Amino acid sequence: MVDERHTSLADLCIAKGMRMTEQRRVIASVIEDASDDHPDVEELYRRAVAIDPGISISTVYRTVKLFEDAGMIERHDFRDGRSRYETVPDEHHDHLIDLRSGEVIEFRNEDIEALQEFIARKLGYRLVDHRLELYGVPLEQPKDDPDDG
Ligand SMILES: [Zn+2]
Repeated sequence: MVDERHTSLADLCIAKGMRMTEQRRVIASVIEDASDDHPDVEELYRRAVAIDPGISISTVYRTVKLFEDAGMIERHDFRDGRSRYETVPDEHHDHLIDLRSGEVIEFRNEDIEALQEFIARKLGYRLVDHRLELYGVPLEQPKDDPDDG
């Protein structure tokens, strides 16, 4: 079940002339399988070591750094002190972080995209990239229950 349209991290590594060890291959596949969450290094390590018990956390750190420096993955800092990673998406998206659960929700809004380009242009720039993070808590549902909390 290989998606032919999508270039895998392993293929990208080879295209960039990196040595592709078996452990790097495992770590690459773990990152790719994390399609809708944004794991940190410790979580990537947990998943990688379940596939190959010989992988050390320092190997995961080094490999993630290598992929990041090569522009193959994106690092995010969602203010919880942990760097989180995802593959560079085919289509840009922004993130909303649920401060209660820590859940990261991906979204895209064309009005926001257009507004950002408009602002950059007004300031004399052509927009080439941006990052937007929204931090929120779930809206309270109205309750009849007099209990507070
Ligand atoms: Zn994302």
